[in-house]
Amino acid sequence: MKALVAVKRVVDYNVKVRVKPDHTGVDLTNVKMSMNPFCEIAVEEAVRLKEKGIITEIVVVSVGPAAAQEQIRSAMALGADRGILVQTDDNVSPLTVAKVLKAIAAQENPEVILLGKQAIDDDNNQAGQMLAALMSIGQGTFASKVTVADGKMQVEREIDGGAQTVALPLPAIVTTDLRLNEPRYAALPNIMKARKKPMDTKTLADFGLTSDSKLKTLKVEPPPERKAGIKVKSVDELVDKLKNEAKVI
Ligand code: AMP
Repeated sequence: MKALVAVKRVVDYNVKVRVKPDHTGVDLTNVKMSMNPFCEIAVEEAVRLKEKGIITEIVVVSVGPAAAQEQIRSAMALGADRGILVQTDDNVSPLTVAKVLKAIAAQENPEVILLGKQAIDDDNNQAGQMLAALMSIGQGTFASKVTVADGKMQVEREIDGGAQTVALPLPAIVTTDLRLNEPRYAALPNIMKARKKPMDTKTLADFGLTSDSKLKTLKVEPPPERKAGIKVKSVDELVDKLKNEAKVI
C-alpha cells in the first residue's frame, strides 16, 4: 500500500514575519523556512503506518521553488522513501496544488493521501478538500486518529466541541490536525541516508498546468500595534476601568 504525502515549504512558525514596505506580501529575505507543521504531522502519520506494516512506500510531493527540496529531504529523513518536487517560483493556489496532486495520484495510485489541514502561511485549509472533490474520493479532515484495516480507513475528526468518527473506503484523503501525533526528530544517520533517496523534479507544464491563479492578493497588512499596558493599584480600580473605560463588563 502506498501513501502520498503533500508537504509545503513555509516560513518557520517561530519567525515573526514582516510585511514588505509596498504591502504586496511578506518579506522572505533571509527568513528561516521549514516544512509546514501540519505537513510534518502528515509525514509522521505515514511513517507510523509504515512501521505498523500497513504502508509499504511513502512518496512525498512538494510544489514550490528549487529550495523546497530541503523540505522533501526533511520528510525523507523522517522516513519517506521518495520525493517529487514540482518546481515553480510562482505562488500556487490550493486548487493548483490539488490538480498537481490529482495528476500524481493518477500515476502513483496511492491508497492513502495525507495533507496538512492547512498551510500556516496562507491559512487556506482548502487543498485536501479540493483534491477529494477532484478525485471523487472520501476525505477525513482535521484527523486526530487514523486507523487503516481491511481496505478501509477510520478517521476520528476534531469538530466543534467534540469528535466525529468517519469510515472511508480506500483510496482516501486525510488532512491532519495537531492532536494526531507528535512528529519525531530526524536522527543524524537518517538525515545522511535521506540525501541518497530518489527525488524527481517536474514542472507544472509536465501535468498540463500553469500557476494561473483565480486569486490575486491586493494588499497585506500587519496586525495593529498593541498599545502599552498600565498597572492598576487595586482590584477595585481594575474593575472600575474594565467597567467604565474598556466597557467589557
Ligand atoms: P492549504 O489548503 O493551502 O491551507 O494547505 C493544506 C495542505 O495542502 C498543506 O498542509 C499541504 O499538505 C498541502 N499543500 C498546500 N500547498 C502545497 C504546496 N505548495 N506543495 C505541497 N503541498 C501543499
